[in-house]
Amino acid sequence: MKVNVIGGGLSGSEAALQLANRGFDVVLFEMRPGKSTEAHKTGNFAELVCSNSLGSVSTDDARGLLKEESISLGSVLLDIAMDCRVPAGKALAVDRIKFSSAISKLVLSNPHITVAREEVKSLGLEGVTILATGPLTSETLLNSLFKMFGEDNLFFYDAISPIVSKESLDLSKTFYGARYSQSDDYINAPMSREQYSLFYEGLINAERHVPHDFDRKFFESCLPIEEIASRGFDAMRYGPLTPKGFNGNHFAIVQLRRENKEGTLYELVGFQTSLTYEEQKKIFRLIPGLQNAEFMRLGSIHKNAFLKSSKIIAKTLQTKIAKNLFIAGQLSGVEGYVESIATGLLAGVNASKILSGRALIELSENTMLGSLIRFIVDNELSNPQPMRANFGLMSKVFFDIPKAVRKEAFVKKSREAISKLKEAL
Ligand SMILES: Cc1cc2nc3c(=O)[nH]c(=O)nc-3n(C[C@H](O)[C@H](O)[C@H](O)COP(=O)(O)OP(=O)(O)OC[C@H]3O[C@@H](n4cnc5c(N)ncnc54)[C@H](O)[C@@H]3O)c2cc1C
Repeated sequence: MKVNVIGGGLSGSEAALQLANRGFDVVLFEMRPGKSTEAHKTGNFAELVCSNSLGSVSTDDARGLLKEESISLGSVLLDIAMDCRVPAGKALAVDRIKFSSAISKLVLSNPHITVAREEVKSLGLEGVTILATGPLTSETLLNSLFKMFGEDNLFFYDAISPIVSKESLDLSKTFYGARYSQSDDYINAPMSREQYSLFYEGLINAERHVPHDFDRKFFESCLPIEEIASRGFDAMRYGPLTPKGFNGNHFAIVQLRRENKEGTLYELVGFQTSLTYEEQKKIFRLIPGLQNAEFMRLGSIHKNAFLKSSKIIAKTLQTKIAKNLFIAGQLSGVEGYVESIATGLLAGVNASKILSGRALIELSENTMLGSLIRFIVDNELSNPQPMRANFGLMSKVFFDIPKAVRKEAFVKKSREAISKLKEAL
């Protein structure tokens, strides 16, 4: 039986190669170059649409650990990335043309892969299919996914607010409570007029990313915090920083909302932003209690299609409506090149398991990939946002370990879990 892989980007190419290397026949659908997305420039498979960096290779960094896990599990794309590496310190940066050309050559020369250069407009549910059309999925297909998964379960863009680790906060400068009610789901950082003024000045003068034209049109529906600030000194106090709903004479209040069940991560409410990453760290650390904040995710605003995974998929990346349909890559609710490759790898392996009638794989929570997938499938927020690999996603048990040796303990567990898993691949 043939497997359909839809989308020849990072996750789809990885998934197709995993299947083909196990001897399964794949039809890989890719609409480029006949029809392109707003960001791709070539007809190559696995084109990197922006930066040429796949992040750190050190296991001190969560993406470094995710890379190590994926390489151990046999990621073809990361193997090629290592061959196309250009000097960039601890980061894995690649010659992007060499990288996507090498992958294209591998895909096109593989006897088990048939390439169909066409836009898929709707999904059939017969056979095994991996859907990997990414953040810029074509509009016609999106409309059909809308009907298939329901309007509330598919998002068209992300408006990402930063997330900080709770343990990096100075809680002596904050208090727990929700507006007009009691709840420890929020940490509130009150500001005096002087603190607010300093923050406001920093924000309106900070450097911003220049948005793509296709990103710009979404701004009105969900304004970046710096855009609100630029509308006047008090604008944020009538928006996300309103002090209303709390006792006390506060000039403004920044709210941080619990992001995961474990309560180890908190999101800055209403802080979607297009400031550069360095500016975000500098300016947001002006908020009382955040002076030493550890940013586990930084903010951004992008056109980005993704599904509400908690309603749609299981930890095997199979959809709940059809076990022979898998979702991989950014569409699954993860964010980033390596995250997309890693989920493509898992979807490819699990599709091969279905075809050979063997048990599917669920990654242990002691791994970075397992923690990331657990987060996206467990996230019950009505408005979830895409997630990158980060150590704040680790299981709560690791937070009982002193911080100085915690990552080391997690890396050790990850290596044990991955080496055990390799026997089952
Ligand atoms: C503008 C932009 C910049 C980004 N920059 C970065 C960055 O610097 N670093 C980072 O880590 N992440 C970045 N990302 C996020 C993300 O990691 C990448 O987009 C990544 O390529 C996602 O992998 P994917 O496989 O899910 O999708 P993609 O790699 O985009 O692959 C999806 C493929 O599906 C094809 N396709 C779409 N619809 C159809 C259809 N109907 N029929 C057939 N084919 C179709 C597309 O042509 C594409 O080749 C960026 C995202 C965007 C949108």
